[in-house]
Amino acid sequence: MITLDNDILFMGEAIKLARQATEYGEVPVGAVIVRNSDGIIIGKGLNRRESLRSPLAHAEICAIDEAARFLGGWRLSGCTMYVTLEPCPMCAGAIVNSRLDRVVFGAYDKKGGCCGSAANILDIGGMYRPNCCGGVMNEECSSLLKEFFGEKRKNSLDNIKLIEVKTDDQKRRTAEIADEIWHEYFPIIISNEQIDYMVDRFCSVKAMNENTANEGYIYYIISRNGQEVGYTAIKPEKDGRLFLSKIYIYKDMRGKGYSRRVMELHKEFCREKGLNAIWLTVNKHNDTAIAAYKKLGFKCIGEGVSDIGSGFVMDDYYFQLDL
Ligand SMILES: [Zn+2]
Repeated sequence: MITLDNDILFMGEAIKLARQATEYGEVPVGAVIVRNSDGIIIGKGLNRRESLRSPLAHAEICAIDEAARFLGGWRLSGCTMYVTLEPCPMCAGAIVNSRLDRVVFGAYDKKGGCCGSAANILDIGGMYRPNCCGGVMNEECSSLLKEFFGEKRKNSLDNIKLIEVKTDDQKRRTAEIADEIWHEYFPIIISNEQIDYMVDRFCSVKAMNENTANEGYIYYIISRNGQEVGYTAIKPEKDGRLFLSKIYIYKDMRGKGYSRRVMELHKEFCREKGLNAIWLTVNKHNDTAIAAYKKLGFKCIGEGVSDIGSGFVMDDYYFQLDL
């Protein structure tokens, strides 16, 4: 007879399999199926979706398949499944179809879990209904997933590269990125006329050419695994500081730590060139950017209004990060 102590014991076995999945670079989910009468594990599975290139290779499906082979039939009544994450629609369906007595899962999956969180496929009227118990060793199971995604995110940040804008194609592309981001981001802060004017004045191919040739600006496309994330521009100054002219990230890519990573790359640039601070100007009403710069360690060192022509002014704070 299976008791709560057994639940923890067998969930521990499922966790071991989930850890193995991590080693394959897979989302860590593990499952075991236990025969209730003698407590023997008759099926094991771990998520192998990437390595087997199969949308079906979830831990639960693999465990069900192994258990059915062991028993020589599809009917898994008299057995319990232990799985580290709340089953998805496919797996919850397979659990019903295999007539498992009971399913015990660890972490809840609010978005996709189909044993009560997002939906309850175990409880469809007229179908066989297995018993279910969630949240067993919840902490251990969910921290495995959090660690995995934290690590993955770190790797994805390592893949952020700055591609210096040199060719005409790259310049055109940068101007397009600027145009798109500025028109998406700035309407709450400055008028559309001013955005049009500033994009033309500061971000057109012509402006880039002038800034690069006369003022020593360097433009970069921010790229992650070959995908454009945004753009940035810097200018090393004679007073030993780096002027960060621009750093813009596409809307759907904000909040993923990319700006912080770009800032690290700019810091590396400063170290190489012997520069001792990064400074920038930011519109006084650009609260989001101000908060982000403060979080990165920038401090306000002044403010000023500058005339940018055609009746437009920029009302800015000056921020600096000492290195
Ligand atoms: Zn699944």
